[in-house]
Amino acid sequence: MSVQVIDGRACARALKQSLEADVAGLRGEGLGIGLATVVVGEEYGSAAYERRLRRLADELGVAYSPQVLPADAGQDQVMARISELNADPGVSGILVLRPLPPHIDETAVFRAIEPRKDIEAVHPENAGLLALGVPRFVPSTAASCFRLLDTWLDSVGEDRADFYHRSLIVVVGRSNNVGKPAILLGYERQATVVSVDEWADRTTGIGRHTRWADVLIVAAGKAGLIKAEHVSENAVVIDVGINPAAGADGRVHMVGDVDHASVAPRVRAITPVPGGVGPVTDVWLLRNTVTAARLLAGHPTDEARPSLPTARPAPTFQEAS
Ligand code: NAD
Repeated sequence: MSVQVIDGRACARALKQSLEADVAGLRGEGLGIGLATVVVGEEYGSAAYERRLRRLADELGVAYSPQVLPADAGQDQVMARISELNADPGVSGILVLRPLPPHIDETAVFRAIEPRKDIEAVHPENAGLLALGVPRFVPSTAASCFRLLDTWLDSVGEDRADFYHRSLIVVVGRSNNVGKPAILLGYERQATVVSVDEWADRTTGIGRHTRWADVLIVAAGKAGLIKAEHVSENAVVIDVGINPAAGADGRVHMVGDVDHASVAPRVRAITPVPGGVGPVTDVWLLRNTVTAARLLAGHPTDEARPSLPTARPAPTFQEAS
């Protein structure tokens, strides 16, 4: 069986198209939509990320305001910048890029974001709503993983509900911004979900869990962590990782957490890096910004609607007599 490479760029294009109509409608009503990102210090990829978001925001007609503070900015400075953005009527969505320098209290910064502008659901109120299955915002990276899965299932003609109900989803990595939301979205789809973290790797090894996965979502930030011996032949692999690697030409390029060359020939489907999770994440962030603009204007949003079609009735099994 030849592997199917799940095309994140095509998925992102389709999502962007539906967003364009949405943005045009809101602008027609005179509603301003603006995204602000906050970076403290220089982090690998943050400049490239800002360039991508600026291009996307421009294409969609959304105002974009990247806020860069020096690495030695104090807690007060960061909190003051968040307050300004909260009060700015031109800003509908605020994204604070992680990691923040160690001297900054990240939780306090997240708590300071106006919840209706908190497009990555890092404020406790929004994280709680997500955990309860009634999200105000679905964090963009986890949303992207499931958007790719849903789109792929549609493309191969598999019933989404049926697939998730019988599937084991293994999520490698348990960060608040990627791993945990992905776990919650797996629960929301009524799948069986297993969370694997660094300690499993250090003790028993992760393969004893990942080898059973029907869906393997990898968000550890470790280049080439997942190799052929960690996956089953039926697995659908979603590679979230973005890691800098030196190419043969000496230039830095981007690789995932999955050793694509050895894993791809073995599995059912896989996302590439680049061109997989990333492009959909970017568009989803803009989608959340539009949702925030709606919320701030008192319009209804559609986040809390169930994401699954009605499930087929569960199969009944006869007890052996
Ligand atoms: P993080 O560092 O906050 O969290 C990583 C998680 O993986 C932690 O729970 C850690 O304990 C776990 N982990 C680390 N080593 C492990 C190992 N050997 N085995 C099992 N678990 C291990 O990182 P994050 O913000 O969750 O991001 C993860 C990766 O995803 C990074 O490479 C990041 O750049 C990338 N990322 C990509 C996108 C995208 O849109 N494609 C978005 C966000 C993050």
